[in-house]
Amino acid sequence: INNAGPRQTAASSELFRRACEITPGGVNSPVRAFRGVGGEPFFVSRAQGSRLWDADGNEYIDYVLSWGPMILGHAHPAVVQAVTDAAQRGTSYGAPTESEVQLAELVRDFVPSMQRVRFVNSGTEATMSAVRLARGFTGRDMILKFEGNYHGHGDSFLVKAGSGVATLGLPNSPGVPAELSKLTLTAPYNDLEAVEEIFRAHAGKIACVILEPVVGNAGFLPPDDGFLHGLRRITEADGSLLIFDEVMTGFRVAPGGAQERFGIVPDLTTLGKVIGGGLPVGAYGGRADIMDHIAPVGPVYQAGTLSGNPLAMAAGLAQLRILRDENPYPELERRTRRLVAGLLANGAELGVPMSGGSYGSMWGVFLAAGPVRTFADASGSDVAMFRRFFHGALQRGVFFAPSAFEAGFLSTAHTDQDIDETISRARDALRDALA
Ligand code: PMP
Repeated sequence: INNAGPRQTAASSELFRRACEITPGGVNSPVRAFRGVGGEPFFVSRAQGSRLWDADGNEYIDYVLSWGPMILGHAHPAVVQAVTDAAQRGTSYGAPTESEVQLAELVRDFVPSMQRVRFVNSGTEATMSAVRLARGFTGRDMILKFEGNYHGHGDSFLVKAGSGVATLGLPNSPGVPAELSKLTLTAPYNDLEAVEEIFRAHAGKIACVILEPVVGNAGFLPPDDGFLHGLRRITEADGSLLIFDEVMTGFRVAPGGAQERFGIVPDLTTLGKVIGGGLPVGAYGGRADIMDHIAPVGPVYQAGTLSGNPLAMAAGLAQLRILRDENPYPELERRTRRLVAGLLANGAELGVPMSGGSYGSMWGVFLAAGPVRTFADASGSDVAMFRRFFHGALQRGVFFAPSAFEAGFLSTAHTDQDIDETISRARDALRDALA
């Protein structure tokens, strides 16, 4: 690691200057701009395993992992080979391929509640499509989501949203018609009573409840005991659909996602990130009788020129086959717990109030004593200190998510030695952040 002297940033700075002239904020997705932590983003030149290198040659141990997809680490040889082989055979056809069938079957093997699967190109498309389907299937217009949960940038979801919108303080976006926002009801996460009250007030009118079954977009918030089961009971009683947005939790908190871990069968599930091996893929699926309302079988329209793209299918297949054949989950979970325990021990040692946790290889820590159960709790964490901590870690070659309202990830490429290094550098960063 080249962290002997001050980190060099001239090349990234110059790229950022050029980028800002041509692209809003210099980035193609807001959280990348470091607005949540201040300063300028680095520009990546390459990545391998647990590491990223930037345009100035600085090396980082990466806990962002493309915001989740890279569960095998960067540039895994099997994934690279699969994409290379697929590209030789053409990059898009606009006609079906065997790889779409194979990946859909494999997804269903992991997530059996997805009796039918439709591929799209992003998590945003998956959630937008799932909600349209829920509305089309039930004939109802309202939806219920949770404060600080993020489901992509679809209009209906930009109400009290998490992730970048929380980081930038824009929970309700201009450009979304107020008439549409009115149809999105919100409740605090982990508040079953609030959900019951909303269902009493709007009985028979709510098409679906959509949620992150373990939240990653308000920082890391685990569900309270009974919360997910309660939602299943309430939605079932009302004839409303339960949608698990497992874009982040899928293949992360357990091989079969949160629904496997907590033993709940949602009506619909949305996936993204891990299933694409780092290429643009999302998917939605669920009960066959509901999914058969989608065109061309049913009347609810949803389509995509690049959906089921052969490169994306190849990358996804390569990644999921390794997860199936090698079952790295117990080891990923053990290492993730070690990381979180080490970060929390740093806090205890230095007298910094901290809390945190993990499920599988999805994790998070807050600079707050905890317990952190809701977005309101998360907002009460020490964001100013987080900024100093983030930059101290970056300076020492550790890339944590550049916002206090994001989860972290771990890959199979992260060794115990990487974790020891991280904990030790994070201790120094935390000590500096105190000063
Ligand atoms: N749902 C969840 C739970 C997410 O975490 C995200 C992205 N972080 C999305 C949906 C949107 O996915 P994408 O960025 O691929 O559109």
